[in-house]
Amino acid sequence: MKVRARATASRPAVRPPPEAPPALEQAAMAARAGAYAPYSGYAVGAAVRSASGKIFTGANVENASFGLALCAERVAIAQAVNAGERRLSAVAVVTASEPAAAPCGMCRQTLAEFGGDDLEIILVSTSGKRLKTTLGALLPHAFRPAALGK
Ligand SMILES: [Zn+2]
Repeated sequence: MKVRARATASRPAVRPPPEAPPALEQAAMAARAGAYAPYSGYAVGAAVRSASGKIFTGANVENASFGLALCAERVAIAQAVNAGERRLSAVAVVTASEPAAAPCGMCRQTLAEFGGDDLEIILVSTSGKRLKTTLGALLPHAFRPAALGK
């Protein structure tokens, strides 16, 4: 005899799939498709959430003069800042790396301009594995505008 689970009032009738990535991660994954990485072949997508709740995205943009490459994180940050945002609450970065790659030092410093030690950073692999950390963990004792009296 089969026993069926009984629905209760506290359980919603429809649940999202348990593995569905949150909107910020989905935005970063979609942004990755726009990467311009003909030299490294290493596509990166990033999405930042501003303190006002808006999401801005970016992908890496390489250059034949390698040192001019723009990281996905800084492209996304620039989009947010250009829209008038000055405070970030979360960042998602998507790469094909296992484990998922973390922002480079330059991007960590750029994030420190617009986020505190508690800035949530979500590192996502295209396989779906993720690691959550914070800017404070990735860049302790960051140099911030306060050091310049700002
Ligand atoms: Zn970077």
